[in-house]
Amino acid sequence: MELERKIEILAEAAKYDVSCSSSGVEKNKRTGSIGSTKISGICHSFTPDGRCVSLLKLLFTNACIFDCHYCINRKSNEIPRATFTPQEVADLTIDFYRRNYIEGLFLSSAIIKNPDYTCELLVKTLKILREEKGFRGYIHVKAIPGADETLIEELGFLADRMSVNVELPSKESLKLLAPDKDPFDLYKPMKQITTIKKEQGLLPTIQQGSKFVPAGQSTQMIIGASPESDRSIVKISENLYQKYQLKRVYYSAYIPVNHDNLLPAVTSEPPLLREHRLYQADWLLRYYKFSADEILSEEKPNFNLYLDPKVNWAVQNYPFFPVDVQTASYDQLLRVPGIGPKSAQNILKARKYYRLHLVDLKKLGIVIKRAQYFITCNQERPSGLINDPEWVIASLISSKQYETLKQFNTQSMYEQLTLFDVERFEHAKKGGA
Ligand code: SF4
Repeated sequence: MELERKIEILAEAAKYDVSCSSSGVEKNKRTGSIGSTKISGICHSFTPDGRCVSLLKLLFTNACIFDCHYCINRKSNEIPRATFTPQEVADLTIDFYRRNYIEGLFLSSAIIKNPDYTCELLVKTLKILREEKGFRGYIHVKAIPGADETLIEELGFLADRMSVNVELPSKESLKLLAPDKDPFDLYKPMKQITTIKKEQGLLPTIQQGSKFVPAGQSTQMIIGASPESDRSIVKISENLYQKYQLKRVYYSAYIPVNHDNLLPAVTSEPPLLREHRLYQADWLLRYYKFSADEILSEEKPNFNLYLDPKVNWAVQNYPFFPVDVQTASYDQLLRVPGIGPKSAQNILKARKYYRLHLVDLKKLGIVIKRAQYFITCNQERPSGLINDPEWVIASLISSKQYETLKQFNTQSMYEQLTLFDVERFEHAKKGGA
């Protein structure tokens, strides 16, 4: 098969994997080598459905021996199949790099023959790139679940980042929709990567040698193909961050590509707003010191589609507010909608030198439009601060947001309207209090 045709098939097949971004790795360029990994990492592009993709994002093969119900590459689908050779992927990467099209490579793969064989091909590809071509650019590669530990280790010393896709948020869903996959095999490489990284970190720098997966590991979960609640997904993410020190969990709104009775109807829209809320919640876990239990409760296990998770927490915990920005701790400030880690730091620094006033807050990076319902400043009360969380909810949902929300799943949106008083909502929209 012509190389061009292979690229067409395998670049297309890779687009459903969203776990691609680079961060947290810097490597100095050496004499005789090319490429470098900067903080900005590999180049990204956006597909029409809003997904972020790298410019050279390939599947090594789509000739899969597995039959996951949600996947376009499953063996029972009649689609064109192709497989690169390691040399082809290495040459393509270098060609694209030299033309300045890319900063690195994102290489995933279906399972061809068996996990070991697939992993060996990936190792071979990365060896050509690193050892023969001297490529020092960013490489994100999939760890192949079920492959031998020695192969995973070898791969990890050649790549910057590795990822193992959890795929579905529960063992039951995996059993149903990915019957060839053993959940144990999915978590085993994650554990191995964590252990090797920890052991390496304990060694004195001089003894560390080449870094094992210096940019850490990530994973991806498909959202909406199975019935788990938002809470159970956020709890899994929390567990993954804590247990395996994952850098990122990516969420991929389920896109129907197969007709299958076990899956949601082919006509349904991808749950993009849900995906967006999950990313916001993920941010709260990683940077705002929230726990999954605080973000979503057993009683309300799904996101409020009108309010982002932080505002939702704030209105559910209104007695926690107002927070006085002159005296509050960093952790208290982080809980205020409209205040992020950077603006919280700015507040702490500024108040060492002077007493803050409401007029100062905007300059410190606080989004007053949101924060005004939750703060005081040296006893000054912003106009939005009143003792009625329901009114606050209605005020926070701007007409613009309302219009944006209408573009998402209409049915879910109307269900969410019952979460608060519709009359008050309409009243507040007209400017009443
Ligand atoms: S293992 Fe499953 S999800 Fe991965 S390519 Fe094969 S069929 Fe698709």
